[in-house]
Amino acid sequence: MARRYVIAGNWKMNKTPAEAKALIEELKPMVAGKNGCDIVICVPYVDICTAVEATKGTNIKVGAENVHFAESGAYTGEISAKMLTECGVEYVIIGHSERRQYFAETDETVNLRTKAALAAGLKVILCVGEVKEQRLSGITDEVVSMQTKLDLADVSAEDMKNVIIAYEPVWAIGTGLTATPEQADETCGVIRATLAKMYGQDVADASIIQYGGSMNAKNAAELLAKENVDGGLIGGASLKAPDFTVIVDAAQ
Ligand code: PEP
Repeated sequence: MARRYVIAGNWKMNKTPAEAKALIEELKPMVAGKNGCDIVICVPYVDICTAVEATKGTNIKVGAENVHFAESGAYTGEISAKMLTECGVEYVIIGHSERRQYFAETDETVNLRTKAALAAGLKVILCVGEVKEQRLSGITDEVVSMQTKLDLADVSAEDMKNVIIAYEPVWAIGTGLTATPEQADETCGVIRATLAKMYGQDVADASIIQYGGSMNAKNAAELLAKENVDGGLIGGASLKAPDFTVIVDAAQ
């Protein structure tokens, strides 16, 4: 079944507002009119206003890199879903492995954030993926399947229209190591089969499952050609407009 590709950049902790504006201005003409996929840039909180303003009237959508699960309150340093939507943010990454690794994010808090974001009308890019030892032990399928189930607990089939899953093998993020297209396809397929068990085949067939992990201008076409790979979540290569554009081109 035809699914629309989603190419999303994850800028991580890079780019000041001025640098963000410069990168977006460079990117805009390069991707203009390329409507064969959705194009998203997920930027640091402080760049959101700049990014929303700079992308108005373009085919580039803006996302955040995290969101808190409470509506408001004593959570110093955190940002709520309503704060994001009011700023014009459409997407949010939740459960990135760097959040899980460095900021004690658990499947439970990922699930809470996911539900809060969906309730506020955000589209969620939910990250799952195994670490190197888990792949070497042969338990990748079990790990991604368990994360998918726990992270989406109590998320309705209707809400799944607003969930994108990013399969990101942790060993491939920022390392230059990439899953082979076959590995990416196989594990995205495991995630899709898990969704089929949870929600039925129609929801599974309609769900967008991205690959992320050192996707770049050279390997994107091969990865995106795989049946179960519906786009990419791109870190390093999203910081270079020409490289990100090549990936967008591969998804046309
Ligand atoms: C990411 O941050 O989600 C990512 C995939 O990073 P990179 O492309 O740099 O591996």
